[in-house]
Amino acid sequence: MALRVIPVVESRFKLDGGAMFGVVPKTLWSRGAPADDENRVQLVCRVLVVVYDDGRLAVVDAGIGESWSGKDRAIYRLEPAGGLSTALARLGRSSGDVTDVILTHLHFDHAAGIVRPDGSLRFARATHHVQKANLAYARKPSAKDEASYRPETIEALEGARLRVLDGPGEVLPGIHARLSNGHTKGLQVISIDSTSGLIVFASDLIPTRAHVHLPWLMAYDNHPLKVIAEKDALFFHCAVEKATLVLAHDPEVAAVRVGFQGDRWLAMAVDLPA
Ligand SMILES: [Zn+2]
Repeated sequence: MALRVIPVVESRFKLDGGAMFGVVPKTLWSRGAPADDENRVQLVCRVLVVVYDDGRLAVVDAGIGESWSGKDRAIYRLEPAGGLSTALARLGRSSGDVTDVILTHLHFDHAAGIVRPDGSLRFARATHHVQKANLAYARKPSAKDEASYRPETIEALEGARLRVLDGPGEVLPGIHARLSNGHTKGLQVISIDSTSGLIVFASDLIPTRAHVHLPWLMAYDNHPLKVIAEKDALFFHCAVEKATLVLAHDPEVAAVRVGFQGDRWLAMAVDLPA
């Protein structure tokens, strides 16, 4: 069985630079991520398409989707989210051919794309794989991150073919999950044994290349010290396994390899053969 992994920019959007980099001073983060006149930085929603040679077709995260009001589109400077449909069309497939949707967590920029603007499921025939802890938390989030969970997404899942995973382990043949709780509860980091080697998709645990530096955290993270420990452990794993780390939100760099030099982890951009 061979798995081909294709990273896809589903959409482009902007978030407040301070929220993306937490306590890091703007004088430092703005060198790599210049802020616009409203202090927002450019981001993307990057998702994965996984093509099996036996016909199975999976996506990891569904992106931000198209169910957004004009006001929201302006706040997030959201650009049309057609990237995933285009990528599937290039493969001669469509959203109806997707057999499996693996959601790292249910924050809107990773999961809102499972719903069409009319409220129906975008991947109607697919099994949606979510972690039990994240699903439970999404139904009753904290005041801190409730704005990141959209009720429409959770409601849509109720009507979907749903597989609730309880902890780490195999999600699909060649695809495994490990759990992370620092960013939000029950986030699943996805590892794929692909034809290009081991691919790790860390979702919001490592959103951009800049966040490879351990103390660079997002203000969105619920448990910052946990994020630091989880990043450190994941980088060690990636370095030992020579894994390629795909970045969910970096607007320029899709994938990196990590290595420890001096006193810190460093990221080197790599090409991921499509
Ligand atoms: Zn998130």
